[in-house]
Order: sequence, then structure tokens, then C-alpha cells
Amino acid sequence: MGKNIICIVCPLGCRMEVEIDGEEVKKVVGQKCKKGKKYAQKEVFSPGRVLTTTVKTDIPGLPLLPVRSDKEIPREKLLDCVSCISRHSIKNPIGLGQTVIENILGLGVNIVACRTVVPDEHFQQRAEQTG
Ligand code: SF4
Repeated sequence: MGKNIICIVCPLGCRMEVEIDGEEVKKVVGQKCKKGKKYAQKEVFSPGRVLTTTVKTDIPGLPLLPVRSDKEIPREKLLDCVSCISRHSIKNPIGLGQTVIENILGLGVNIVACRTVVPDEHFQQRAEQTG
């Protein structure tokens, strides 16, 4: 069986023809380095992606916080993860790389903040009012 895939390991984006035999990639043509074959094996049999999206916040002036997964997520679980993240909201200041959702859906992957949110005066006043 043959398959055409594009390697996304580096910006060159090599177009590869992959020959598959059962559970194994037999031959890869078109890659410009050895990482291509490794990528093809993974992409054919266990594709995954780092998820980048946003999470809602209750922080004034910042309705959405950019977040990403700290590891690849199996492709068939990406939509479930997006749905899970959409049900969360950030209520407190958070630092770059800090975990927003730990072990999402039991996948062993954390969702982390892609920027730091420092408390501003308005946020502090609101936090004091709400206790
Ligand atoms: S095969 Fe190598 S050169 Fe081509 S996109 Fe993948 S990593 Fe880059």
C-alpha cells in the first residue's frame, strides 16, 4: 500500500511517497534527511500533534489566553481535548509555561499557558471584591 505525506519536522516540508507493508514502512522516497523516514513511520501508524488553542479567562482585558499541549496528542483525541479546554476558564494570573489543565483526558499531556498574565490593578480590585 502506498501513501503520500508531507514531513512537518522542519520548514522544508518534504513530500514523501511511503510504501507500507502491514505494520511497517518499507520504503520512503522524497525525504531530504533521515528524520523523514522516522516521521513517516509515526505519521502512518500513530499520528499526533501539539495542540495550540485558547482558553477563556475571567481576567479583564484578556478574554482568551493562548495555550498549547506540552507533548503531542493522538490525532483522534484532538477534538475531545479542544472540547475539554473550552469548558475551562482561567481565574487567576498565570505564568508562561504554567499548567492550565494537568493530564488532560488522562493522556499524560498537560495544557500549558503560552504567555504570562500578571495581575493588574483592576484585576486585583475585582479579586478582592469577590474574595
Ligand atoms: S525529511 Fe528532513 S529535510 Fe525533509 S522536512 Fe523532514 S526533517 Fe526536514
